[in-house]
Amino acid sequence: MHQSDELPKPLSDNLMTSAPRHNLWICSGDLPGLQRHAKIATALRNLSRMNFCSQCGNPVVQRIPEGDSRLRFVCETCQTIHYQNPNIVAGAVPVWGTQVLLCRRAIEPRLGYWTLPAGFMENGETIEQAARRETVEEACATLRNMTLYMLVDVPHISQVHVFYRADLVSLDFAAGVESLEVKLFEEDEIPWSELAFQTVRRTLECYFSDRINQVYPVRSEAISSSQPMKTS
Ligand SMILES: [Zn+2]
Repeated sequence: MHQSDELPKPLSDNLMTSAPRHNLWICSGDLPGLQRHAKIATALRNLSRMNFCSQCGNPVVQRIPEGDSRLRFVCETCQTIHYQNPNIVAGAVPVWGTQVLLCRRAIEPRLGYWTLPAGFMENGETIEQAARRETVEEACATLRNMTLYMLVDVPHISQVHVFYRADLVSLDFAAGVESLEVKLFEEDEIPWSELAFQTVRRTLECYFSDRINQVYPVRSEAISSSQPMKTS
């Protein structure tokens, strides 16, 4: 098991590097006082950076379009409204007997920390295909018997994380380019203090808890930014 000399950092939720904040442009008088401040704070948290219109290449501004209630990037040249919506992260709990496969990350964020294979869903694939693909890419491993297991809303970073339970087809696995190492862990070997993401921690906690009775309901949870880190 990987041993780190550093104190464990707080668990992150975000598989992306955090988006930089940017200046706000908003029509004065759109919303009254405090309500406007709350709207702006929420909108800033939820918007990723955009400087130029992908349709015409001119600079975009941020404002609440007429008939809308949220801050959007708007191109005032071609009038395109650039809507931004949550990203889906698909992953798996790859199981071999009583062991679970984890990957130690070779990339930021959370380089050197352990994770379940997971990553951003691509256009044109199903969530299950995304989870399979990520497992191939990060662990060179093939899955079978995939069953939807865990859905975690992470609204403060506009992500939804979805994990499948799955069996490893064989012991033929290895570190992919995004992993430093890939290893099977018994429950009592899980490096809880070296896990990369809160959603991975919650998924593993639920999995080992459900495994006691061999009953695995589909779970749905939400993680908020203010949620304290569990230390079990
Ligand atoms: Zn434009």
